[in-house]
Amino acid sequence: MSEENKQYTFENEQYRKTYWHTCSHVLAQAVKRLWPSTKLAIGPAIENGFYYDLDSEETFTPEDLSKIEAEMRKICKEKLKLERFELPRTEALALMKDEPYKVELINDLPEDAVISFYQQGDFTDLCAGPHLDSTGRIKGNGIKLTACNSAYWRGDSSRKQLQRIYGIAFPKKEELDAYLEQQAEALKRDHNKLGRELEYFTTVDVIGQGLPILLPKGARVIQQLQRWIEDTEQRRGYLLTKTPLMAKRDLYRISGHWDHYLDGMFILGDPYDETKECFALRPMTCPFQYQVFLNRARSYRDLPMRLGETSTLFRNEDSGEMHGLIRVRQFTISEGHLILRPDQLEDEFRGCFELASYCLETLGLKEDCSFRFSQWDPANPGNKYEGTAEQWEHAQSVMKKILDDLGIDYKVGIDEAAFYGPKLDIQIKNVFGKEDTLITIQIDMLLAEKFGMEYTDVDGTKKTPYIIHRTSMGCYERTLALLIEKYAGALPTWMAPEQVRFLPVTDRAGDYCAEQARKLEDLGFRVEVDYRNEKIGKKIREAQMDKVPYMVVVGDRDMENSTVSPRHRAEGDLGAMSMEDFIALLKDVVDSKAKK
Ligand SMILES: [Zn+2]
Ligand SMILES: [Zn+2]
Repeated sequence: MSEENKQYTFENEQYRKTYWHTCSHVLAQAVKRLWPSTKLAIGPAIENGFYYDLDSEETFTPEDLSKIEAEMRKICKEKLKLERFELPRTEALALMKDEPYKVELINDLPEDAVISFYQQGDFTDLCAGPHLDSTGRIKGNGIKLTACNSAYWRGDSSRKQLQRIYGIAFPKKEELDAYLEQQAEALKRDHNKLGRELEYFTTVDVIGQGLPILLPKGARVIQQLQRWIEDTEQRRGYLLTKTPLMAKRDLYRISGHWDHYLDGMFILGDPYDETKECFALRPMTCPFQYQVFLNRARSYRDLPMRLGETSTLFRNEDSGEMHGLIRVRQFTISEGHLILRPDQLEDEFRGCFELASYCLETLGLKEDCSFRFSQWDPANPGNKYEGTAEQWEHAQSVMKKILDDLGIDYKVGIDEAAFYGPKLDIQIKNVFGKEDTLITIQIDMLLAEKFGMEYTDVDGTKKTPYIIHRTSMGCYERTLALLIEKYAGALPTWMAPEQVRFLPVTDRAGDYCAEQARKLEDLGFRVEVDYRNEKIGKKIREAQMDKVPYMVVVGDRDMENSTVSPRHRAEGDLGAMSMEDFIALLKDVVDSKAKK
């Protein structure tokens, strides 16, 4: 496809935004035709679709939204031309005299601003554009109004409450249908809903936003993940550390966090009172783990030193940013720092990347990942970054070579580096398509010197090591959220909080179940027996709702034959088998970390 054509495909973001913005005008026009006294506020395109904020006596119902959609389709059929014109301020105010919100917007424009309007048929809106040239370019039956919420004028809760109508539109009806289906599926998988329903986590107002409570099931999953990660790292030569959750401000002064990250930290004490001790909860583990290296004199033989820690961190994020387990203020991460000689950088970086890939692959998340090479901004370093331009160019060129050698297909993110160095961010999209960083690997040629870290080289001279900051799985809470969404709550057996549930049909079967359950528990499997005096149909339904991988209904025949008849939640009945065979089957599924 040529560059010229590409501009007009829907994948082109600018075109898509223009399309949706034009839809928002059509929406407002339709509402004005149906309820002429409605006053218009604003109507932008957003990441997924568009909205218009309206001040109307009518409280819009779902039936009203269908009526508006029908009117919008009519307007598309009318093929109204969108024409742009400009007016001087007084004339602009006169034109909009019946639209108080537009008047306020015009009055707030700077003195020399160009005041432009777009007109389509009987409808004119104050607007900077751009727009499609005709309403006929919009496919009428590709439009869907999806919701109507309240929204304050200018997001200010002291101002009037308006109604916000949301919509989505595509140039083809099939694209709309596919999108709506995908959204419905996403809603079902949303960890913030499903994770609460399945009792993995909850949040409580008196504890605070962004501070989720992991309920026993969620805690169990994270325990499994943590054991696996710690064992995996130790097999790869990592040394496990446990360092404090807080430190005096003096530590963060050396690391640079006090200068670069003060707003992001939880401070215990007055940060500006130098006469008293002041502490801060740690936002990262780096300066703590460096103390492990500094514990005694080091030689080249000690390097690379790979330090790993299951580390709880605190970051004072905006409360508006909080979302379930994805955006939180306290989280636990598989942090680690590799302290190394410059000539070890490439091999060690590769090792970090392979470890991260192995983790993502095992979790089943790898196919949803993309890569970002986050760099500093040479045009505008401000005081955001430590170090000189030469140091940055060097670190980035080394990293580029490594990434290219590894054949990683990455996007470059300017002004997204850490303050001490460039990083490779492994990005993942949640079920709604919102992207977050899951894993990061960073090259740091600066901080070791600040902390006075050095080693004696082969020739007896003192040298400053390089450092790699990395995670192997990233934030446990965020990972749990992504896993719940990926598997729609049906987590693979090896990490599932409950792996097997026995369902005795009669009281007599209860003892038999207890005996079989104990055999499994002794081998480390996570097992429950549903002893309740409920109908078996109800017990089965609940085991399914709880998404337990294996359920074992036990009646007289199994007791007589000393067998079990397990049923896998996706594969169905597995037939009668001896307990030994069932154990072998489970062991195989768990040990291989099968994705079922
Ligand atoms: Zn507009
Ligand atoms: Zn670090």
